[in-house]
Amino acid sequence: MNSANNISYLDYNATTPIDPRVLDAMLPFLKENFGNANSTHHFGSKIKKQIDDVREKAARFIKADTNEIIFTSGATEAINMALKGIADVYHTKGNHMVTVSTEHKAVLDTCKYLEGKGYEITYLSVDKYGLIDLNELEDAIQKNTILVCVMHVNNETGVIQLIGEIASIVRKKGVLFMTDATQSVGKINVDMESLGIDLLCLSGHKMYAPKGIGALYVRKSINLPTYMHGGGNEKNLRSGTLNVPAIVGLGKACEIATSEMKNDAERVVRFRDELETELLKIPKTFVNGNPENRIYNVSNICFKGFDANVMIGRMKNVAVSNGSACTSAVIEPSHVLTSMGLSRDDAFSSLRFSLGKYTTDKDIKGSVKNISEITQSIYRYA
Ligand SMILES: *Cc1c(COP(=O)(O)O)cnc(C)c1O
Repeated sequence: MNSANNISYLDYNATTPIDPRVLDAMLPFLKENFGNANSTHHFGSKIKKQIDDVREKAARFIKADTNEIIFTSGATEAINMALKGIADVYHTKGNHMVTVSTEHKAVLDTCKYLEGKGYEITYLSVDKYGLIDLNELEDAIQKNTILVCVMHVNNETGVIQLIGEIASIVRKKGVLFMTDATQSVGKINVDMESLGIDLLCLSGHKMYAPKGIGALYVRKSINLPTYMHGGGNEKNLRSGTLNVPAIVGLGKACEIATSEMKNDAERVVRFRDELETELLKIPKTFVNGNPENRIYNVSNICFKGFDANVMIGRMKNVAVSNGSACTSAVIEPSHVLTSMGLSRDDAFSSLRFSLGKYTTDKDIKGSVKNISEITQSIYRYA
């Protein structure tokens, strides 16, 4: 399905294809079951029941309560809603938040916006493996700190932060803890109960559901302000007619992940390790990120001396990603990799391979062959 035109898709962290079973579950809600969940007649009540079911499914999936799930358009919106909302509600308590230099731009740019509004943000550093220092975290939390936001799994390197230990430190200080779990929910067990998380975001299109749907988990003791004004949907946090088909898709994706996640992981990790072992045979290559605390589907590899963009341009049959973000025509090296101490050159030489449940043996063998040929033929500038 994702080998369109015989291209091996190894960019699952950017977005996943929709599971055909998710699409099948959605289709009736794009056709005959088109009702508005707010309508009181038959069409509406049927939809409302469906939405309630999905909310329960999504809640059970992360061990939360049904009334703690707010549907959003994705993780970016959930992050905006959470960070700006907490800033707004708790500004009388303090104006300081703590986050990490390797967060997704959705977090970093929202924090930058809040800095412009007078909030103070501490950006924790990471070690060469991408992990934060728990002592630095503890020292960063002040009397005026209202929120600590640390992502669970990094989208570029797959590094898994010690989220349970982090949450317990934050909680002991009486501060709220938020985590961006966009790259962990659907891949590994995320258990709100045992982790002690106050706010969490997830996204449909990173877990085989469609784009344009996500969710924010908000612990029920927290009252966020209205983010989108209107008819009062989603506990008056986010008005607007619910995206029913996408919500149904998200529910189906949670259901499938519940029963299949573990088996998928076992298969995918073997492919990832094979890919990594083969690519590391290329001279001057190394893995970015913590070899132990790393999710099973990602390998971020530096091909020292090569320009990752040139490599991508030459890859006829492989779709992978480089970490760099192109802002106003200036290409910047990945902020995640430079935060881990990589030089600009090494960051520009790094590629992210992210695998998923439809990755095949052929994808791996083909990619290794293609990349080996490229590195043998390409001009080396170092
Ligand atoms: C993809 C991603 C986001 C943004 O998710 P959207 O649903 O596309 O807004 C945020 N954080 C991480 C870690 C991601 O991988």
